Amino acid sequence: LGLDTLDFAVLCALALAVSAYLGRDTLKQLFASNDESIRVNSDSRDIVQTLTENNKNYLVLYGSQTGTAEDYAKKFAKDLAAKFSLRVMCADVEKYDLHNLNELPEGVVVSFFISTYGEGDFPDGAVPFEDFLNSLSGEDLCNLRYTLFGLGNSTYEFFNGAGKKTHKLLNEAGATILGKYGEADDGAGTTDEDYLGWADSLLEILKTELSLDEHEQKFEPSFRYTVLESGITDKVSLGEPTVQYLPDGELTFSPDGRQTGPFDASYPFVAPIVKSKELFKSEDRNCIHAEFDISGSNLKYSTGDHLALWPSNSDEKVEQFLSCFALDSSVVFDLKPLDTTVEVPFPVPTTIGAAVRYYLEITGPISRQFFSSLVQFAPNDMLKNRLNEISNDKDEFAKSITAKYLNLADALLYLSDGAKWDSVPWNFLVESVPRLQPRFYSISSSSLSEKQTISVTAIVENMPNPASEKAEPVTGVATNLLRHVQLSQNNEDVNSSNLPVHYDLTGPRNLFSPHKLPVHVRRSAFRLPSNPATPVIMIGPGTGVAPFRGFIRDRVKFAEQQTNVNLGKHLLFYGSRDQNDFLYQEEWPEYSKKLDGSFELIVAHSRLPGKPKCYVQDKIKERGQEVFELISKKGAFIYVCGDAKGMAQGVHATLVDIISKYSEIDKTEATEMLKLFKTSGKYQEDVW
Ligand code: FAD
Repeated sequence: LGLDTLDFAVLCALALAVSAYLGRDTLKQLFASNDESIRVNSDSRDIVQTLTENNKNYLVLYGSQTGTAEDYAKKFAKDLAAKFSLRVMCADVEKYDLHNLNELPEGVVVSFFISTYGEGDFPDGAVPFEDFLNSLSGEDLCNLRYTLFGLGNSTYEFFNGAGKKTHKLLNEAGATILGKYGEADDGAGTTDEDYLGWADSLLEILKTELSLDEHEQKFEPSFRYTVLESGITDKVSLGEPTVQYLPDGELTFSPDGRQTGPFDASYPFVAPIVKSKELFKSEDRNCIHAEFDISGSNLKYSTGDHLALWPSNSDEKVEQFLSCFALDSSVVFDLKPLDTTVEVPFPVPTTIGAAVRYYLEITGPISRQFFSSLVQFAPNDMLKNRLNEISNDKDEFAKSITAKYLNLADALLYLSDGAKWDSVPWNFLVESVPRLQPRFYSISSSSLSEKQTISVTAIVENMPNPASEKAEPVTGVATNLLRHVQLSQNNEDVNSSNLPVHYDLTGPRNLFSPHKLPVHVRRSAFRLPSNPATPVIMIGPGTGVAPFRGFIRDRVKFAEQQTNVNLGKHLLFYGSRDQNDFLYQEEWPEYSKKLDGSFELIVAHSRLPGKPKCYVQDKIKERGQEVFELISKKGAFIYVCGDAKGMAQGVHATLVDIISKYSEIDKTEATEMLKLFKTSGKYQEDVW
C-alpha cells in the first residue's frame, strides 16, 4: 500500500489487531518505513587497529545529532583520563567499521553515548552503526564489555529509542553491560544531572572492574599547544568556518563559477542574506524573516528541510570571557594532536580572540562536572574550596548557578567577586569548552517556488532573567545575530544601547560582509504527500508555521504549473497571541485565492483583549468532525510543527479525543492508532 492511499479503515484495523498481540517496539519495527579534540584522525577505519596502534586502553564511542552526545562522551573521556590516567580513545561511531569490535584487546571497555532524534531514530551519522547492530546475532559480541548512556527527550513519543535499541541489540549479541544503562531526559531539563548520577555510580564500578587507582583530577592534554610568534599570516584562521575559507584555502568551483561543496555539517556555504525583515515586535519578543541566496552554490534543499546556521558570539560575551580568564585575544596559537586518534576541533593556527568569538560555546548553561574539573586551576584556596563545595552539592549548584542562568564567565566571576581567573590555562579551556554548534531553523520557503532562496522565520531568544539585579535578559546566540543582520540590512541602528548584545557582522577577513552567514541544509523527513489530492492537516502555532508556509507555497506553485489541478483539502491550524504577532497574515488570503479555496487557515488567538484564551487545540476540537472525516475517509496526512512540550502533546491528546469520540473506540486504541500513523509517515512532527 502506498502511504497516500493507506486508508483509515486499514490502519484502524491493523492498529487494533496488531497492538492487541504485539508490543510497541515490535509495532515500530513492523511499520518503520567538534571538542573534536579526541576525534580520530587516522585514515584507517579499523577500530581495533587504531586503538592498538595508538596504545589506548579505553574506548568511548558516540552517535550525536546536535553535539550533545558528543559533548558528554568527551567529558566522560576527559574524566577517565584526568582521574585514572586511562589512555582513552574517543570517536564518532560514524568514523569506524565496527565489524571487529569483539576483538578489542583484553580489558578494553567500550562506553557508548547515543542520542535519539526524531521518531526514536539514530543520529544521521550513526545509521551505519544501527545497521551494524541489526546485523548482529548469537554470540557475536561475547567478549565485549560495555557501558551505555542514551540521550533523549521524554516529550517525544519514542523516548531514547536509539539508546534502548542499542542496549537490546548489544545484549542479544552476548555483550556484557557494566553498571546500568543510563538515560538523560532533556524534556525534564535534567540531562546534566542524569549524566552525573549515572557517571558517578559507573566510575565506582569501573574502579573495581578495571582495578583503577583514583587520583586528584589532573588535566591530560590531547594536543601540543604552542604560541606562534610569527603573527597573522594567510595560514592563520581569523574565525573562518573551515580551512577552505582561508586565503590559501581550496574552495571548490564548477566551470560556471558556482561554489560546489558538497556543503554539509563540516563545510557550510557562506550565503548572502538578500532580504530580511522584522515580522513583528512586542515588548518581549521580535520575529525575524531572513532570506538566504544559495544561487552562488550547489547547495540544494527541499521544502520541509532545516537550515543550520553557524553563529558567532556577541562582542559583550566575547569580551566578558576574555576578561574573566585574562586572555590576550591577539595571541596566535596552534594545536597539534598528540596521537592520531585526535583531530583539531577547528581551523588552526588561529587567534584566541577568533576561537572565543567563532568556535567556542561560551554562553549557555554550565555543567557541575565542568566546575569540578576547574578545581585544579582555582586561583586560590578559598575559591578551590568554594568550587569543590558547589560542584559536589547538586542542590547548591542548582540554586546558585543554574537558577541564575549564569554562563561560565558569569558563574566564575560571581564566585570570585569579580576577580579574574587568570590561573586557568587557555589550552584547558580550548579542550574543555564545547564547540559552538549550528542552530537549526525549519525552512519557510518552497523549493518548488523559490529554488535559489531559503527563508527562515526565527523568534529572537532574549529570556528575562528573574535573578539578574540589572534586569539583563539571558540572550540567545544565533537569533540575536540574525536580528543584527536584519537591523543592519534595513539601515537601522545596530549600535543602539537598547540592544542587549552587539555583533561583528563583517566576520573574519570580511567574509560575512555584506550580510552573509555560513549555513548548511539538513535533510528532514517532513514532506508533503506526493499526491496533491491527498488532504493535509497542518498544525503550527508561532514560528511552527514556518514549514507550512513552505508547503502552501509549494502547492500554489504546483497549481500554477498545471491545468485541471485536483487538490485535496489543506487545513492549517495556526495560533498566535494576538493580531500583532500573527505571522505572514497578509500572505494567507492570497494563497487561499490561488488555491481556489482548497486551502483554509484557521486562527486561534490566545491573548486577545476581552476574549477567552484560544489555542490551536481548541480550534481542532471545534472542527473535530471534519478533521476526523478527513483522516478516516480521505486519508489525510497530519503535520505538527513548533513547541515540543506543551503544544505537540496537547495536539496529540486532542487528536486522540477526536478519533476516540467519532470512531467510538477507547483512548488507548486511538493512541495506538496515532502511533501507527506516525510510524507509517501519515502523522509527522517537526518539533523542538
Ligand atoms: P541559544 O544560544 O541556543 O540559547 C537557547 C536558549 O537558552 C535561549 O532562550 C537563551 O536565552 C537561553 N540561555 C542562554 N544562556 C543561558 C544560560 N546560561 N542558562 C540558561 N539558559 C540560557 N526556532 C525558530 O524560531 N524558528 C524555527 O523555525 C525553528 N526551527 C527549528 C527546527 C529544529 C529542527 C530545531 C532543533 C530547532 C528549531 N528552532 C526554531 C529553535 C532554534 O534552533 C534555536 O533553538 C533558537 O532560535 C535559539 O537559538 P539561539 O542561538 O538564539 O539561542
